[in-house]
Amino acid sequence: MIEVENLVKRYGDHLAVDHLSFHVEPGKIYGFLGPNGAGKSTTMNIMTGYIAATEGTVKINGHDIIKDAEEAKKCIGYLPEIPPLYQDMTVREYLHFVAELKKIPKSERETQLREIMDLTMITDMEGRLIKNLSKGYKQRVGLAQAVLGYPEVIILDEPTVGLDPKQIIEIRDLIKKLGEKHTVILSSHILSEVQAVCDEIMIISKGHLVACDTPEGLTGLMNGNVQIELTILGSKEQVEEVLSGMEHLQAFSLKEGNEADCVKAVIESEAEVDIRTNLFYTLAKAKLPIMSMTRLEKSLEDVFLELTDSNKTAEEKGGVEDDSNL
Ligand code: ADP
Ligand code: MG
Repeated sequence: MIEVENLVKRYGDHLAVDHLSFHVEPGKIYGFLGPNGAGKSTTMNIMTGYIAATEGTVKINGHDIIKDAEEAKKCIGYLPEIPPLYQDMTVREYLHFVAELKKIPKSERETQLREIMDLTMITDMEGRLIKNLSKGYKQRVGLAQAVLGYPEVIILDEPTVGLDPKQIIEIRDLIKKLGEKHTVILSSHILSEVQAVCDEIMIISKGHLVACDTPEGLTGLMNGNVQIELTILGSKEQVEEVLSGMEHLQAFSLKEGNEADCVKAVIESEAEVDIRTNLFYTLAKAKLPIMSMTRLEKSLEDVFLELTDSNKTAEEKGGVEDDSNL
């Protein structure tokens, strides 16, 4: 449905998008996840025809976004990072204006407007000037303009940024609802957000696509090594001696435990071997009782950090005007 091939965007000599390729299938909610400055907005602006790419192509339902812009754009509704709202129009005036721009047939306008205002829960504010709306309502008006014309694909750039927790939940629910009838692509630098809403997550870092998978699949990516945390009754020296002699143990670190006379050990082992049984018998034989043993599950957060850390952007290192939550 959407084919992005070898997308490159240069701003002067800065490479914001670096040979990005991916495909989007209909009927799913996609999350575009990456730290600030990763190139999410740039990519979305190119996909929606707002800005031109330096190299590469974007096809929407087979229509090239540049060569066949009108047809391609008909398939997309877009909510940019800064919603294109006219502050001095009322909600209704503004949505009418958008409907006109989108060339929605006059006979359908009123019905669509009603449906979409209901869907985005802004009907009670239809007569209010946009400048007098709360941020949450403004964002919903932004969503409404993206949904007008019922495009197949709805692209939302950081749709929950700057909202309070209650508004975030409302917008997320709304996005899930949109996902029932549309293909949705949303960007975010907040991991829990994409995890909560998306079927597929694309992780982007420094203009590169570093992973694309389901939330579960991404967590699975991390199973290279398994970590086990133990509290052992004994001295550091004793524990160190026993662990050093064990097989299938990649690495371990020891520190004082919280409990008296205990050592806390974090062990990395190969994923193929479950060394817990061996740990139990070996430590028992050495008369080092195990007071607790936990296999640490790696979270999607770990995956994200691992995939994007080595690839940190200039912004993150230098710090710009962004309000990063990462
Ligand atoms: P994201 O949306 O993931 O935070 P952006 O796509 O906004 O990232 O930006 C990607 C990179 O391109 C950043 O380093 C940003 O500073 C740079 N950039 C974005 N827009 C411009 C522009 N108009 N001119 C120069 N550099 C830009
Ligand atoms: Mg952005």
